Amino acid sequence: MAATVKVITKSKRTLREQAYVAEIAKGLVFTMGRFFKNTFGGEERSEIATIRYPEEKRVYPQRFRGIHRLTQRADGSPRCVACLCCSTACPAQCIYIEPAEYEEGDPRHGYERYPAVFVIDELRCIFCGYCVEACPCDAIRMDTGLHMPPSTKRAHFIYDKETLLGLPGRDGTYLSANPRHEPGDPTYPGVDREKGH
Ligand code: SF4
Ligand code: SF4
Repeated sequence: MAATVKVITKSKRTLREQAYVAEIAKGLVFTMGRFFKNTFGGEERSEIATIRYPEEKRVYPQRFRGIHRLTQRADGSPRCVACLCCSTACPAQCIYIEPAEYEEGDPRHGYERYPAVFVIDELRCIFCGYCVEACPCDAIRMDTGLHMPPSTKRAHFIYDKETLLGLPGRDGTYLSANPRHEPGDPTYPGVDREKGH
């Protein structure tokens, strides 16, 4: 099949268009009009979508993934048992945990560990939520409703265990809604110390 060629003739620019002066003036009039309207036109006429952060803050939706927190047990200790599921699931490899054993005599000794060190690099985090999904103990949550406060210091984005335990959820509590069965209490569903050992 023979190829057909379509010839497009370009319309010639007028002298006024070629000089660009009138178009530049039109652009400047438009820009200055917006500037005066947004600067002096008052809140109701302003078309600016930005807000004056940090004096003004947006209300985030309920499902917003805020920065992490570690949930506490009733005695204030972390619910985390240092199983490393979260750090293993983390695609950004920004969670660092050093597990430790509870002291002899503590009912949790021999059953569970605790995180002696628990650090999240919030600047490396991609807020995927995999760590929360992976946790078997509801020990890590992203329900603070907070985003990272701006800072020029790298160290301000490294959240340690104390910082994470000290952040409340949106409801203001440090616990979680899920029940916690402690080793030694009669409702504990795990291995019985007397029969299991
Ligand atoms: S939200 Fe995702 S990237 Fe951030 S710490 Fe959790 S698993 Fe890692
Ligand atoms: S936060 Fe949860 S998943 Fe991560 S180490 Fe602690 S118990 Fe395991």
